[in-house]
Amino acid sequence: MIEFGNIISYSEMCKEEDANLQRGMYFRLHNKYSVLLMSLRKNAPYADRIEENGQILIYEGHDNPKSQGESNKENTNQSLYNPSGSLNQNGLFYTSALKYKNDQEQAEIIKVYEKLRPGIWVYNGFYKLEDAWQEISDSRTVFKFKLLLLNNSEDIKIQNRQIDHTRIIPTSVKLEVWKRDKGQCIICKSKDNLHFDHIIPYSKGGSSLVASNIQLLCARHNLTKRDNIE
Ligand SMILES: [Zn+2]
Repeated sequence: MIEFGNIISYSEMCKEEDANLQRGMYFRLHNKYSVLLMSLRKNAPYADRIEENGQILIYEGHDNPKSQGESNKENTNQSLYNPSGSLNQNGLFYTSALKYKNDQEQAEIIKVYEKLRPGIWVYNGFYKLEDAWQEISDSRTVFKFKLLLLNNSEDIKIQNRQIDHTRIIPTSVKLEVWKRDKGQCIICKSKDNLHFDHIIPYSKGGSSLVASNIQLLCARHNLTKRDNIE
């Protein structure tokens, strides 16, 4: 079972969702919850951003796949519809957010993965869809979706773990640590089941905000360490 903050490969992510994830947005995948793939990397195609220390995610909508002969996306406004006229992923999430705001529906539950580098993803937990709107970005209209991190396991039966969002490590720190520790457990060099570990635990005053307090550990050494501390 995947845990908050786990680092996984692309194929592990697909296995976790039992789907061949080829795009960024999946409304109500397998009729259970939705899945969004985000990226804060500099060259990411869409401008996602994190606010409130990771508790709020502002996710940018996506463009319809280009059909032949169409101009590049820079001039094209994002749409709520597929060329066929049905709602596209923007449309499905947008409609759901409006229904939630009008008390017509429960908030959509969304599982979020973040791209750390090509083929390497971090599981960022469950969020709920709170709002959606349009805005101008680079002289075209895009959709934005506001997601709120769920931290109360009473709210959500899918995940039975408490998420301690105070432990959230910013992406810039994750990238720095990943590079420094060469994408492997610093003890056994394993590249599987990696976690970002606080060297001084958050509960004992250790910071999430500096790379010098974060290291990569495999699941085994992460557990060993936890046992020694507690
Ligand atoms: Zn290890």
